[in-house]
Amino acid sequence: MPNKIRTVIGDVPADRMGRTLTHEHLLYTYPGGEYDHLSAFRLDDAVERIAKELKAGMEACDYRTIVDMTPCEVGRHPELMRRVAKATGCNVIAVTGFFPESMGVPYWFKRQTVEELTEFYVRDITQGMVFAGTQTDIKAGAIKIATGQEGVHPKPSPVGPNGRHISSSEDRLIRAAGRAQQRLGVCINTHTDPQDYTVTNPGIEQLDIIEEEGGDPGKVIIGHAFVAPRDVEQIVDICRRGANVQVDHIGIPWRHDSVDDLDEQIATLMSEVAERGYLAQMTITYDRWFFNPRGPATDDNPQLLNEKVPLDYLYTSFAPRLEKKGFRTADLETILVDNPRRILGF
Ligand SMILES: [Zn+2]
Repeated sequence: MPNKIRTVIGDVPADRMGRTLTHEHLLYTYPGGEYDHLSAFRLDDAVERIAKELKAGMEACDYRTIVDMTPCEVGRHPELMRRVAKATGCNVIAVTGFFPESMGVPYWFKRQTVEELTEFYVRDITQGMVFAGTQTDIKAGAIKIATGQEGVHPKPSPVGPNGRHISSSEDRLIRAAGRAQQRLGVCINTHTDPQDYTVTNPGIEQLDIIEEEGGDPGKVIIGHAFVAPRDVEQIVDICRRGANVQVDHIGIPWRHDSVDDLDEQIATLMSEVAERGYLAQMTITYDRWFFNPRGPATDDNPQLLNEKVPLDYLYTSFAPRLEKKGFRTADLETILVDNPRRILGF
């Protein structure tokens, strides 16, 4: 059994994780946002706002742990995460890693070899993350990898030099993640693009590379796998490899016309995956943005839909929908507690 998780305020015994959301964002911007007047913010105010929302959700639903999946170049802010963790008592796991190349991966890191990138991840996890040129003692506890195209006019990813729908920079970053995973035992949590499921199985492509480098598929969570698979077989294929699949975007109609449309699709797929015997390989989360410094979500700014979903939505709206499909509430507890402990603990 895994014995610990690595949070932004130190290691915590894995049996104290409780209900865990595996993909959230305390702070979310886009690469470059940290230089823009439009998204400048006061740290004290941001911490207060984020902590208030998170604490309310924790009290309503007993969430105890979240993975903050904000990658390095998307405003990742170690001190903000640490202050929110202290203010709320929530176990916050930070990630090392990057966005898809179409939206991120700074040139600095595009130049680096697989060996150098492996060392970067390992140092983020064992020594602490660097923020604005300063070494901190705040450590990451998981690795993020990502593939797929930019999201405004989504298209499938082109085939890269490796024959996969993955660019050469992403390929190196994924290889490094596989090596760092093997060395440290930490989880790799991934971003796949829903569009890519129309031309390939992006989860399988990511797993191929991770396993080529000696990584353990049992410690991998394939993210966004329920948003637009061609059918349930694509999800089952990922589970058959021994990897885990993440349910996310409940209450957030990403790449869908309505909340109802996506929630119904996700609930149907979840029931099918459970029926096929893979209950122990699912995690569930929102992919919520607690704070986007560009401003609050409005009808005029639908890109901020990820801010609107209330933290108790899982229980008030989504669980009843699942129950109608024969999915038991006790099974939800397996997905929220037992599975994340096994996957994120090391
Ligand atoms: Zn996300």
